[in-house]
Amino acid sequence: MSTAPNLPADDDAVVLAQLAELDADVLTGEDDRAFYSQDVAAAGVVPLAVFRPRSVDALAAGVGLATARGLALFPRGGGMSYTSAYLPDRARALVVDTAALDRIVTINAEDLFVTVEAGCTWASLDAALAPHGLRTPFWGPFSGWNATIGGAMSQGTATFGTARVGTSGDNVLAFDIVAADGRMVRTGVGGQQGHTPFMRQYGPDLTGIFANDAGALGIKARITLPLEPRPSAVGGVSFLFEDFAALAAALKGVTRAGLASEAFAMDPAVTRQFSGGSGGFTQDLAMLRAIGRAQGNWLAGLVRMAKVARAGRAFLGREGYQLHIVAEADDAQMLRRKLERVRRLCAAGSVELPATVPDMVRAVPFAPLPVLSPSGGRMLPLHGIVPWSRAAELDAEMAALLARHAEACAEAQLTIGTSFFGVARSGLLYEPVLYWPDARLLSHERRTTGELPRHPANPAAQALVARISAEMIELFHAAGATHLQIGRAYPWARGRNAGAMALLAAIKAEMDPRGLINPGALERA
Ligand SMILES: Cc1cc2nc3c(=O)[nH]c(=O)nc-3n(C[C@H](O)[C@H](O)[C@H](O)COP(=O)(O)OP(=O)(O)OC[C@H]3O[C@@H](n4cnc5c(N)ncnc54)[C@H](O)[C@@H]3O)c2cc1C
Repeated sequence: MSTAPNLPADDDAVVLAQLAELDADVLTGEDDRAFYSQDVAAAGVVPLAVFRPRSVDALAAGVGLATARGLALFPRGGGMSYTSAYLPDRARALVVDTAALDRIVTINAEDLFVTVEAGCTWASLDAALAPHGLRTPFWGPFSGWNATIGGAMSQGTATFGTARVGTSGDNVLAFDIVAADGRMVRTGVGGQQGHTPFMRQYGPDLTGIFANDAGALGIKARITLPLEPRPSAVGGVSFLFEDFAALAAALKGVTRAGLASEAFAMDPAVTRQFSGGSGGFTQDLAMLRAIGRAQGNWLAGLVRMAKVARAGRAFLGREGYQLHIVAEADDAQMLRRKLERVRRLCAAGSVELPATVPDMVRAVPFAPLPVLSPSGGRMLPLHGIVPWSRAAELDAEMAALLARHAEACAEAQLTIGTSFFGVARSGLLYEPVLYWPDARLLSHERRTTGELPRHPANPAAQALVARISAEMIELFHAAGATHLQIGRAYPWARGRNAGAMALLAAIKAEMDPRGLINPGALERA
């Protein structure tokens, strides 16, 4: 039990006091309320308080209490997103912080599933599964040191495992979800008495309805994920391509052949952002040690460390599109064969580079990455997933957009670089990132360690960022793209089949009849 200081003097004080009686923290300090009203890109309305339950029972009781009083609830995991996905739109609101719901409930090594509380991070889950020799097939985003399984499952997330098994929502078995009145809704096979959630499909797929719902259909309390054995051999290869067409052909070939677990690429502008390196010799040395450890045995580790040390970061400065592939296999021989096939598929229009980036990424998959650019400026990633047949057209449209704004970008010191990811069975994840010097938000201050340059507020660049983002989102829509992180940024509801929208509205009305759970999310047309 905790006390809630600085209670507001009106009726809402009563509900805050009741929430504080639960097994929960209720944060009402000005600084905390401001921090939790911001994501990595923007600020919302400062809420009444932050409700941080320490048990699923307290979550359910608190949700019921708050909505009975008409308070809106904005669920938040690690707060690592940038599409205003959990930002309050009103003051009579609570941000529901799931950070203390971080338990691993069951690891079932026999039937291959794991149940976690929604606030468990991907890094904690992976660390807990490693001693069992197990892993989830999709095993987290780059931000997984802080991003939660609840956040990923609510908005859709890509990265570790994505080239092989797709995104987070493709790799979940069941949810326990708290409805607005505090009721618990259990999806999946485990929702039937006497059954365990060992598989997803049995009758209509209720789990799928709540995956990627932007947290608008209820608050996830527990999540069950499938498990698989960890691979015995992991290795990477990297290439430099002269142009997007050759890069896209190689990325498509490798992803379609199911050869990669991760397949990602960057254009020259992204490479330039990172080629200077911010950490210097000490950070490089720590990374080398991690690469050595990740090889599994000391001799292989030393050989790998020596190779990476020789290659250094120098190749990062070379102009072109870099493609990095990570492959996994049951043994070293099978891995070598896979990588040879990757080399054949990537041969046209490329030269091979040292595999420093794949090695680094897999040595420390959940490194605490900065939320600011290497020069201390702001970043805004946008993205869309397009079918391979539309990739070239999208890239040409984006290039034309950049050319139109080139002069204005130079004036506002706005740089735009693009990363690319292969998504299993689906297509190309195309991710332009906007970088510009600007003042920090509190959400950057609290998460930035070390010395990075500071910049004054840059309203001219902000206006240009808003304009270019809006244009890019329209291009994505025209190219038939889907989006992870829909939040309040992408026009998910536009032109959608009326029957499907009516069905979704009925589900929303059942889960949240007064529209108090994450209002505004999943609504943009
Ligand atoms: C440095 C950096 C690296 C990143 N790398 C990647 C990457 O590799 N791949 C990628 O896809 N994204 C990446 N992201 C974006 C983001 O971190 C991920 O999408 C991540 O999954 C967000 O998780 P979170 O726990 O922080 O969710 P939040 O940002 O806290 O929330 C996201 C959404 O989920 C909802 N939500 C959260 N918890 C619950 C719950 N329990 N019940 C219902 N709704 C809930 C929120 O309301 C919101 O709509 C990165 C971001 C940064 C800053």
